[in-house]
Amino acid sequence: MEELLYKSTRSFQAPVKASEAILKGLSEDGGLFVPEKIPTLDVSLEKLSRMSYKEVAYEVMKLFLTDFTEEELKGCIERAYDEKFDTELIAPLTEAEGAYYLELFHGATIAFKDMALSILPHLMITSARKNNVKNDIVILTATSGDTGKAALAGFAGVEGTKIIVFYPKHGVSPIQEKQMVTQKGENTYVVGITGNFDDAQTGVKQLFSDKELEKEMAAAGFQFSSANSINIGRLVPQIVYYVYAYTRLLAGGKLGEGEQMNVVVPTGNFGNILAAFYAKNMGLPIAKLICASNDNKVLYDFFATGTYDKNREFVLTSSPSMDILISSNLERLIYRIAGNDADKNAALMAALSGEGRYEITSEMKAQLSDFFGGYASEEETAATIKRIYEACGYVIDTHTAVAATVYEKYKAKTQDGLKTVIASTASPFKFTRSVMNAIDVKYDAWDDFALVDELSKLANVDVPGAIEEIRTAPIVHDKVCDKEEMKAVVKEFLKLA
Ligand SMILES: *Cc1c(COP(=O)(O)O)cnc(C)c1O
Repeated sequence: MEELLYKSTRSFQAPVKASEAILKGLSEDGGLFVPEKIPTLDVSLEKLSRMSYKEVAYEVMKLFLTDFTEEELKGCIERAYDEKFDTELIAPLTEAEGAYYLELFHGATIAFKDMALSILPHLMITSARKNNVKNDIVILTATSGDTGKAALAGFAGVEGTKIIVFYPKHGVSPIQEKQMVTQKGENTYVVGITGNFDDAQTGVKQLFSDKELEKEMAAAGFQFSSANSINIGRLVPQIVYYVYAYTRLLAGGKLGEGEQMNVVVPTGNFGNILAAFYAKNMGLPIAKLICASNDNKVLYDFFATGTYDKNREFVLTSSPSMDILISSNLERLIYRIAGNDADKNAALMAALSGEGRYEITSEMKAQLSDFFGGYASEEETAATIKRIYEACGYVIDTHTAVAATVYEKYKAKTQDGLKTVIASTASPFKFTRSVMNAIDVKYDAWDDFALVDELSKLANVDVPGAIEEIRTAPIVHDKVCDKEEMKAVVKEFLKLA
């Protein structure tokens, strides 16, 4: 097979192999790695429709990770998509009100980050071995909640890796904190810091660029890596479930051969919807990519006006994983519509970090016609949860409800009747309080676990293991430190003098 290499979105650098891009995460010039071209599916959709999730994953991922052997890639897939998921389908589809909800929340932490973070550790270890890296990989992450737990669950117990997560001690929800501090695994380390998320993030960035620490670590057999959503090793596994969704609808006779579908994605960092865009470019019959935002509607404004502007008030919403003003993965799309021109893209990104805004040209904007941007207010989101529950007994989470709301607006505006897949990115049990309050305000007075049991009754769904576990699990991480102490804490965990 032809080797696919990855280049930076910001300047000309020698292209690297997939395994090197996964190990590095980010290019040295601060750019993101992009494949030199998007490969085309080389197995028919009909054939894929008879394959399991793991088999589809192999057929998609082998085209991107061309320096992995068949045995290596299949090994990673086997270890990722196993009993950590509560269904063998891995990403089942549920029909409600004529749309197909692609449930991406059946993994260890009941949110869609599991889809990629359950395989990333294995891709990383395999990449390290292929590149003769003998060091253990130390994943260092600052989290405002969800990603930290999903990364912990993914890396826990994976030989050759350690993971250190810093979170703002008073800046995550009680359930999120409980999920992290009960994390098992000798190779995991969770630390609360007395500061906000930005302090944690800044501290982590400093540690990544600390040359002295790098030397000490290397001497002891360690090196840092990052698990954040711009790593190509997180993007590629996300393409799989769009191909899987299409081929399930094909297998079930819901779509005819060659018939197009739309996808709706509740968007924050632009990773999930970019994966759908890549799937379309691989030849999957996708018509519109509907990008759904909450009140932090930077992307909606961008698609409407061609100006990306983060200078605005940051709004805390009931869909916190989408409360983002800088959608990092959008850079890969900008680079592409700039004609794969790194200089043009770099200039726009410099404007973003300097003035907090940039404007694309009309030629670039014309290439965004596959996308439709929409947004949902808090009231609309809550009303959608209630309406769908009352109409069909199906309970969706707040993030998914943003997408469902935007889909309704899209249909009203365009009269488009194509079959549509909505990415359902979290279990309603992950955001129980907001979900139950949307159904009936009386629930506001109830305590968290009473709500969980009531939701289980209403939705007729068992309480997920991930929630059951934190009811009783013992706290195993109780370390708290100041932001100045982060380096000392890392050294202590790694037993560096
Ligand atoms: C991370 C996340 C999103 C946003 O996905 P992006 O890839 O960042 O656009 C949406 N919903 C949930 C539940 C998430 O955890």
